[in-house]
Amino acid sequence: MRMRNKPWAEDELKKSNIVILDKKNCKGSWSSFFKNENEVHLEIGCGKGKFITETAEKNKNINYIGIEKNKNVLVLAVQKLKKEQSNVGFILGDAHNITSYFLNGELSRIYINFCDPWEGKKKWAKRRLTHRNFLNLYKSLGKKNIEVFLKTDNRELFEFSLNEFSNENWKLKNISLDLHNSNYENVITEYEEKFSQKGAYIFRLEAKSL
Ligand code: SAH
Repeated sequence: MRMRNKPWAEDELKKSNIVILDKKNCKGSWSSFFKNENEVHLEIGCGKGKFITETAEKNKNINYIGIEKNKNVLVLAVQKLKKEQSNVGFILGDAHNITSYFLNGELSRIYINFCDPWEGKKKWAKRRLTHRNFLNLYKSLGKKNIEVFLKTDNRELFEFSLNEFSNENWKLKNISLDLHNSNYENVITEYEEKFSQKGAYIFRLEAKSL
């Protein structure tokens, strides 16, 4: 997500007690962060936070964490959160380091919405958040059978992801090639809004590790 540099973003994030900036502080401690034992769902690349804040509002008995590597975007997500919403936390960090933030068994579900498709060079496939290397990291963090819910408008990334999940023996369900013409009760993300207005089809899948 391209975003003008906000020199004040870092200070703003440091001031917030719901943002983790330091890896050392959270691994294995999420239940004390949220002060309960509820399930934890993670959104990777939460952007400006529309999806996570709205989803958390609807599901108060689930804890949500958004990890985002761009501080200029994350600061907008933090601002979007209502004061009384206590089931959301954020990490300023990179999903490549996901195992530094969570202990095995701490997560139940991961949302990936409109991540970078890394099209073009073959060697870039490894950077896709649904590459098998990532799927194995996600699996290791799951309580038992971790779920990954993916949305994208990118056909190539979607096809790639279906193959990766199925080659790694994940169970796939609720696959949609036109989400906006389905019955799914959808929370629309910022990118989704933009792309669907331009006429793009939205693809979605649910995968569960075995
Ligand atoms: N999910 C939002 C934003 C999509 S854009 C939406 O649907 O509107 C993708 C976002 O993922 C960007 O904000 C980008 O900074 C972030 N991102 C990309 N790779 C990441 C990574 N490895 N770790 C954390 N965030 C990442």
